[in-house]
Amino acid sequence: MKSDSYKKIKKPQSINFALLKHFLLLAFFLIVFVEVIFFLVVGNIIEARAKERLTHVGREVAVFVGGKNEIAISNFLRGFREEGINVYVLSGDGKVLLPVADDADEDFGREIDGIKKRLENVGFGGSVIFSDKNNLKYATEIGYNGGAFLFATYSLKIINGAKNVLLVYFVVLGVVVLLVSMLIAFGISQKLSSGVKNLSATAVRFSKGDYNVNFTNSEYQELADLSDTLNSVRDEVKKSDCFKRELLANVSHDLKTPLTMIKAYASMIREISGDNPEKRDKHLQVIIDEADRLTGLVNDVLSVSKVNSHLDELNFKVFNLTEFLYGIINKFEYLQETQGYKIMVDVGANLYTRADEEKIGQVIYNLLGNAVNYTGEDKTVYISLKSNLSGDRITLKIRDTGKGIAKNELPEIWDRYYRVNETHTRPVKGTGLGLNIVKVILKNHSFDFGAESEVGKGSTFWIDFPSVSSEIEVEQTK
Ligand code: ADP
Repeated sequence: MKSDSYKKIKKPQSINFALLKHFLLLAFFLIVFVEVIFFLVVGNIIEARAKERLTHVGREVAVFVGGKNEIAISNFLRGFREEGINVYVLSGDGKVLLPVADDADEDFGREIDGIKKRLENVGFGGSVIFSDKNNLKYATEIGYNGGAFLFATYSLKIINGAKNVLLVYFVVLGVVVLLVSMLIAFGISQKLSSGVKNLSATAVRFSKGDYNVNFTNSEYQELADLSDTLNSVRDEVKKSDCFKRELLANVSHDLKTPLTMIKAYASMIREISGDNPEKRDKHLQVIIDEADRLTGLVNDVLSVSKVNSHLDELNFKVFNLTEFLYGIINKFEYLQETQGYKIMVDVGANLYTRADEEKIGQVIYNLLGNAVNYTGEDKTVYISLKSNLSGDRITLKIRDTGKGIAKNELPEIWDRYYRVNETHTRPVKGTGLGLNIVKVILKNHSFDFGAESEVGKGSTFWIDFPSVSSEIEVEQTK
């Protein structure tokens, strides 16, 4: 068995859920990112400033100590306490020498060894700065009293306190941002999904056969585009449904009449006219005519279904358009003989073109069929086939004298299933597909074509074929 048959089918997520999830993730990462950056950068900056200040104070004191009395130095040292910096002058065993009196009982006996060790590495005149959990510390050796140590501490508690307060602010801010992003996500997803839900509810109504539904959504471009597409699908389905019904009605109606006639005349021959050759021939002719009509009708229906598939496969060849046109006109002969139609022909001799002969036949047949169908009282259709002056094009024109087509309807007649509403009976039944087939075939050939019409006077349909010299045909067929 193929491995992909084991593929898990992913369950679709709702837009609400997906949006909420992504919004929350985004908000969460943003908050964490901002907080980490803030703590790293701000924490480092504050600590660097504190170190700078402590070093500065140490240097200032080291300079001040030289030549001053104990009281003055002590007061000077105490002056830094209000900014959280304690400065001492220590003896070699860690006893506080300065400031005198109040801090005399403080003892840095445990600290002094560490200080000395650190200072060993930097030599006399150098200073060290280091820290433990609670304090930032500065130490240097000074010449006071024949050799002492300047030791300053800066409490990190203030910095840490500030950091903690900030942390609380950040947590509160984070929660607020998460809540706000949840609200925004919810709002957007509600809006989005309600649009989609509306479209889908309309689509359900449409699928149940309600062709009057209207897909609307103007809030978002993509949904508006989808609505437009669905509306045109609806129009197509509606047309096709209409066409199906109409075709069925037309075909069954048109099948019934000739069948009734055939049956009636066959019975008549058997019972009445069988022995009368003159009458029998007349009745047999009716049967033959009606059978021809049936064949024509069946052919129409067949070509409608056939043509919908292989329209774009073109089989180009050079052929004699003049003769080909006459062949088609002859097919309409029965209309001329039986129903008094006149086809007036003005066709140049031996005009050759290169095209798909069978499909062009379908095009001319459809146009001629329409002209016969829609022509006026005089039952006349005019056909001309002429080469232009430069000889590179041949124009076919099929003109009728019917009621014509209104200007606003002229562009639409090429649409599938389009039929101008009319009730009069016609010699060849239509389906509303004919001109669409004509359009598709001629477009595939890249031939120019069109229709001109004047209401009340009639219509002219024209096609420009490329003109090809007959020698090419001779060469090709050799
Ligand atoms: P149909 O099978 O109904 O003739 P077509 O696609 O051939 O379908 O034509 C579409 C519509 O265009 C027709 O229903 C008709 O209203 C109009 N039409 C086509 N040809 C003519 C014409 N020669 N004169 C007037 N109207 C025409």
